[in-house]
Amino acid sequence: MDEYKIAVIKGDGIGPEIVDSALQVLNAAQDKFGFKVTCKEYLAGGCAIDVSGRPLPEETLEGCKNADAVLLGAVGGPAWDHIEPSLRPERALLGLRSGLGLYANLRPAIMFEELKDASPVKSIDHMDIMMVRELTGGIYFGDSDQYSCKDILSDGTPKVRIAYDTESYSEGEIRRITDLAFRIARGRSKHLTLVDKANVLTSSRLWREIAEDVHDDYRDVSLDYLYVDNCSMQLISRPGDFDTIVTSNMFGDILSDEAGQITGSVGMLPSASLGKPGTPGLYEPIHGSAPDIAGTGKANPLATILSVAMMLRWQFGETEAADSIENAVKQALASGYRTSDIARGNADEKPVDTEGMTAAVIAGI
Ligand code: NAD
Repeated sequence: MDEYKIAVIKGDGIGPEIVDSALQVLNAAQDKFGFKVTCKEYLAGGCAIDVSGRPLPEETLEGCKNADAVLLGAVGGPAWDHIEPSLRPERALLGLRSGLGLYANLRPAIMFEELKDASPVKSIDHMDIMMVRELTGGIYFGDSDQYSCKDILSDGTPKVRIAYDTESYSEGEIRRITDLAFRIARGRSKHLTLVDKANVLTSSRLWREIAEDVHDDYRDVSLDYLYVDNCSMQLISRPGDFDTIVTSNMFGDILSDEAGQITGSVGMLPSASLGKPGTPGLYEPIHGSAPDIAGTGKANPLATILSVAMMLRWQFGETEAADSIENAVKQALASGYRTSDIARGNADEKPVDTEGMTAAVIAGI
């Protein structure tokens, strides 16, 4: 029997509630599909600051490195907002990304048929996009600085200070993320869209050149290109036409939030962050710690449950178990179960709390 070691970081706010739900679902899946998971809990975020003064204790990072995968709830909250930025709970996420070498962020944006009326795009019929965002390069990590400047602008306004951030990408960074994106597209509808700004940016032109080159190994997958400004419009006007999108760190940051919003609820969106094959990936919902509803039983656990399904699929190759969890989520929605964030007040809805939704999913596995 295959055995998997999972490092579990519950974090802050609703983190412990939604992770407990996801672990119950994982337990149900292991019983049914014949694999075994061993979970070990670690602290990160605000709760770690309270105990150790640091958002990501060394022991947590080591534990994650030695696990097969990491499951994370969410970190942060008002109790730690006053802390100096470099020691805030959210720094734990950056530490985990760099410590585990996680260079690819996978964010599926799927429109569940039953939640269509929650989408701000009223004409939406279908959407199933896998957004592949480069996570460790580009403008967020490029050279940046700020300095005083005595020059004046053409209309006489003094410049006073100049600040800059640099978008830079190496061929290697582009090659590994586009290769992964082609592999993902191959397992889906075999269509990959590279989103860039190649009409203006030199770095985007390198992305196109390398993507074209990597495409030689994936001739069964079609490749097209979209400028990022155009893509942000097309996502609204024809969301159903996209399959897999690959893009840089900053463009992916913005577009994945846009695509997520089209699905209608932040409580439904899972994510995976992956590094070198064979190393532990990080699986987490895209939402934060929702301190406003922590402890009330209102948290929607589905994003975290779907993150576990991604872990089973991408990390462990347990495709049947992953399919079963995703189908159980669809079934729970089709049966009318709704946490308050996705409730629309329709007569056929069955309002449930976090535990009720978890039980509904487990019943479908
Ligand atoms: P948030 O995602 O926590 O909450 C935004 C809104 O969505 C809130 O009204 C919340 O109640 C609701 N919501 C979020 N998840 C939900 C769920 N599963 N079920 C039902 N409703 C849900 O964003 P925020 O309020 O901007 O941030 C709160 C804290 O979380 C901050 O400290 C922020 O820094 C942190 N944060 C952490 C992560 C992470 O750990 N990956 C990501 C984003 C924000």
